[in-house]
Formats: sequence, C-alpha cells, structure tokens
Amino acid sequence: MLLSSFVSLTFCRIRILIIISLCLLLFGWAALNSADVARYALKLKQPMDYRWRDTSMERWNEEERAHAAAEETDKEPVKLCPALSPLLRGTLPLKFEASLSLKQVKKENPQVENGRYQPESCKSQQKVAILIPHRSREQHLLYLLKHLHPFLQRQQLDYGIYVIHQAGNQKFNRAKLLNIGYLEALKEEDWDCFIFHDVDLIPENDFNLYLCDTEPKHLVVGRNVTGYRLRYKGYFGGVTAMTRAQFENVNGYSNNYWGWGGEDDDLRQRVVGQKMTVVRPSAEVARYTMIFHTRDSGNEVNSQRMKLLDKVSRVWRKDGLNSCSYQLLSVEHEQLYINLTAEIGRPEI
Ligand code: BGC
Repeated sequence: MLLSSFVSLTFCRIRILIIISLCLLLFGWAALNSADVARYALKLKQPMDYRWRDTSMERWNEEERAHAAAEETDKEPVKLCPALSPLLRGTLPLKFEASLSLKQVKKENPQVENGRYQPESCKSQQKVAILIPHRSREQHLLYLLKHLHPFLQRQQLDYGIYVIHQAGNQKFNRAKLLNIGYLEALKEEDWDCFIFHDVDLIPENDFNLYLCDTEPKHLVVGRNVTGYRLRYKGYFGGVTAMTRAQFENVNGYSNNYWGWGGEDDDLRQRVVGQKMTVVRPSAEVARYTMIFHTRDSGNEVNSQRMKLLDKVSRVWRKDGLNSCSYQLLSVEHEQLYINLTAEIGRPEI
C-alpha cells in the first residue's frame, strides 16, 4: 500500500516535471523566434527611413486628399501601410512537393484575382509588378507561385504577377521578355515598381522586401547553390527591383542577348553609366533557394555576350525599350498570374 502510493507520487512528480520542462522549452523557442524577427525589423528600420524621402511629400499629400475625400463621404480613410509590415515572419520553410498542382495553389490563394492582390486594411507603399520570363518551366512556375503569393501578401503589397512566355523555338531571350512585360504591364496599371524575377529562384526570408528603393536594387545576395555568397561584386541577375523612372532612364534591357548570360551585366552597365548605384539588402535576408535544373535546350550559353558587353556605352540609347519589337499573341488573366505570350523574333546573327 505504502509502496504503491510512493510509486504513484513519484510518477505524478515526474509528470509535473515533464510538463514544466515542455513549457520552458516552448517559451524559449517563442522568445528566440520573436527575437529573430525583431532583429531583422531593427536592421531594416534604418534604411527604410530614407527610402521614400523623394516621394514622401507626394504620398503625404495623397493621404491628406484621401482623408478629405473620406470626410466628405463620411467613410474611414484608407491608411498607408506601414513601411515594415507587421505580418513579416522571417525565414519560413519552403516546400517542393512533387504532387503540387495548380488547383491546390489556386485554392490556397482565394484572395488573388486576375493575377492581382491588394491589402484590405491599408494602401500599399508602392504598386508592384512582378515580371517573370518563362518557357517550358511549368513546375518551377508552380513552386514560385505557391511561395511568392503569401510572401508578397505578408509584405502588404498591392501587386500583380506577369508571366511573359516566349512563343516558338528560337533561342530564349530573357531580357527582351522583361522589356515586353514592362511595356505591357504599364498598359494595365500605373505600376511604381518592377521586380524582374527568374522563375527558378524562391525567396527564403520575407524581410527581403519587394519594394523599389531610391537606387536600383539587387535582391539576390546569396543562393543555396553558391553557399549563399554573392556570385561576384557586379552580379545583378536573378531578381532585381527598379522604379519606372530608373528603368526608363537606362532604356530598359538590351534586346540583343539570345541564350544564357550577359543581359544582367549589360543592365548593370547601363545603371552605372547613368550614375546610379546598385543597392542590396543584407546578406542575412537576401537569400534564395534555386530549384535545381539542367540547362534548357534553346537557352545555350550566349557566346556573343562578351562582344555585346564591350559596346554597351555606345548602343544603349538605341537598343532597349525604345526598339523592342514583338508581336503580342495573347493576354490571359488567370487567377494567379497574367499570362502574356509573345513572338519575339530571332537573333540577327
Ligand atoms: C553571366 C550572367 C549571370 C552570372 C551568374 C555571368 O557570367 O554573364 O548573366 O547572371 O554569370 O550566373
């Protein structure tokens, strides 16, 4: 009798001990996580303060006008979203399930319509168009859409996703497709900011803001495939953010890079040539997972790229947005993206 009550008392104590340790573990984990998010937030706060210096007056006036208009109609004015969204979570695990379907991603994003989304509770800091050049990479596109939509929504962005599809079998021309995306997107909306985005790069940390800065911004500091180190000092590929003024200022991308490589280096030369500087978020947040793939047929390395890069300063004024000729075959407003298909011609040589 005595023994059995001793055993049950000991068990009871052990159980209480286990519960207390579990609670302590849980608190510790939560504290670590929130410290992590607070750390990014603090780091991001400083550059954000100057970010909108040039347009803040304009925005303020806009807010004032919205206020006045709302007073007239007795409605609550829509406030500008905070520079740093309270919904950001830092690094979240990425999922690449082989069974993922478009239907599933659509179901996960019921608030996205015609490739567009805007926050309900506030007016976004900028209107952002995401431009994704594409040909035969359906699975990559699916993974990107799955992760990008919630990522952009946590950033409280008013955004649209454009997928620009190259028709036919000619060599792939990423840069020309991005010029086309830019020109066509502006026919639909007065976008403030453009994100030029590779289909195979998935952002890992939502503090990597898809907003434009006072200078052209390069968002890919590290990729898993390169040990999260910057490829080289002048690397400007993968994902890049430019305002309309910045992009027009350099006459967009060159249209003459057929096949893989060089077009991003060309854009950087244009940017530097126009006395702009490239800015990057901290290496801690500007991290991407690259979905593994072998080189696509039709996108072989461009052996002409060094020759083209040598003459950027001479040709950029006449090769770019102002000379981008193409035939737009279709514009389809899917739920998750706007699908542009274009016939873009062939290399001259
Ligand atoms: C190419 C770029 C490419 C970079 C990183 C360079 O050699 O010219 O277009 O983005 O390598 O892979």
